[in-house]
Amino acid sequence: MNLDMTYPRRKTTPCRVGPLTIGGGHPVVVQSMITEETRNIDACVEQIIQLHEAGCELVRVTTPSLGEAQALEEIRAKVTERHGYVPLTADVHHQGTAIAVEAAKYVDEVRINPGLFVFHKHTNQIEYSEAEHEAERLAIEDSFVPVIEACKKHDRAMRVGVNHGSLSERMLVTYGDTPEGMVQSAMEYLRICEKHGYQNVNISAKASRVPVMVAANRLMVIRMNEAGMAYPLHLGVTEAGDGEYARIKSTAGIATLLMEGIGDTIRVSLSEDPIHEIPVCYDILQGLGLRKTKVEYIACPSCGRTKFNLPTVLNQVRDATKHLVNLDIAVMGCIVNGPGEMADADYGYVGAAGGKITLYRKRNVVKTGIPQERGVVELIELLKEDGLWQDPPEGPVKAKELVGLTVLNS
Ligand code: SF4
Repeated sequence: MNLDMTYPRRKTTPCRVGPLTIGGGHPVVVQSMITEETRNIDACVEQIIQLHEAGCELVRVTTPSLGEAQALEEIRAKVTERHGYVPLTADVHHQGTAIAVEAAKYVDEVRINPGLFVFHKHTNQIEYSEAEHEAERLAIEDSFVPVIEACKKHDRAMRVGVNHGSLSERMLVTYGDTPEGMVQSAMEYLRICEKHGYQNVNISAKASRVPVMVAANRLMVIRMNEAGMAYPLHLGVTEAGDGEYARIKSTAGIATLLMEGIGDTIRVSLSEDPIHEIPVCYDILQGLGLRKTKVEYIACPSCGRTKFNLPTVLNQVRDATKHLVNLDIAVMGCIVNGPGEMADADYGYVGAAGGKITLYRKRNVVKTGIPQERGVVELIELLKEDGLWQDPPEGPVKAKELVGLTVLNS
C-alpha cells in the first residue's frame, strides 16, 4: 500500500548519533533505557545487547556520577566485542559538567537535563530580576561550554532533555509549572549551543500528563521556528506506569504529535522490563504508517453477518503470514461490506455465502467457493503464485531481523 498520503513531517536539521541520524527526514528512531546499575558492567552489557536484538536502535544508560561515566568505556568495549556497535546515550542530570565530559568520550549522545544541570538549592525567591536571570545564564554557560566542546571534539550528539517535573526554581518562578517554562528552559541551552557553534542537538520535553507533554512539544516547535531553529524532537510520556493503560497513555501523547508531523525519535517509558517498550514503539509507528516492520492486518469487528468465527480465523491467517513483511492482509466477515472496507489491502480473505471463502488481490476477486478449512492454505498458494511467499524462519523471529527491512515515508 502506498502510504505517501501520510502527514508531512516537520522539516528538521539532522542530528547524527553515531551511525544513526535523528531528524532530517530519516525514519523515526526507536529508543529505550536499560534498568541495570551502570557500575554492574556485565549486566549492563547483557541488557544493552538484549534491547538492541529486540529492535532498540539507541540505548540509554544512566550516569549519575563520574564513576558511572567512566564505566561506559568498558561497557562500550564489551558490547562492541560481543555483539557489534550499539548506539549509546549517557543520561546526565545533577551538576553534570564533569560527568558529561567524561561520558562524551565513550557514547554517541549525551543527554543533559536543563532543570538539574546546574543545580541550585531552593531559595523561595518569588521573582527574578533581569540581572539575576543574566547571572544565572552566565553560570550555566560556564558549566555547559566544556560539555559542548567535548561533544564537538568527539563528534557526539546531545539531547537537551527537559522534564516537566524537574524545572529549575528560576523557571518555575518566572513561567510557572507550564509548557512555556519547559520550552524556555530548553531554549536557553539551545542558544548557548548555537553561540558556541554546536548544532548536533535534539530536544525532548516530557511530562507524565499527556496534555502537558503535547502542549510543550507544540510550543517547542513554535519557539524554535521563531528563533530560526529546527532541531529534531524526541517524544515520550514519562512515568506512564505499566500495563495497558501505560501503553494507551504513551500512544495518546506520542501519536498525537507524530500525526502532526512532530517527532523524530520516540521512547515509550514503561515500569516494566524495557524490552516490552520496543514492540509498542513499532506498533505506534506502523499504525501511523511511518515505519513498517510486519504485516498490517485489517480485520472487521464481526457482526451478525459474519460467515465464520472471525477472531479464530484472524489468528489462523496471522499465524500463517506474520513472518512476512510489507504486506497488508484483510480478514473480513462478509462479502456484503467486507470488500468495500478492506482499505486497499493487498489481499483479502472474505467470508461468503454457504460457509465459503473468497480471496481478493487488491479489489479483484481471484478465488471463490473455497471451503473454510482450506482458506489459509489457498491464501498461501496465492502469495506463492505472486512470488511473495517466504517460508517462516526456524525459531522465533527477532525483531532486529525485521526492523529496517521496510521503512516507509522516510
Ligand atoms: S464486514 Fe460484514 S461481517 Fe464484518 S462487520 Fe462489516 S458487515 Fe459485519
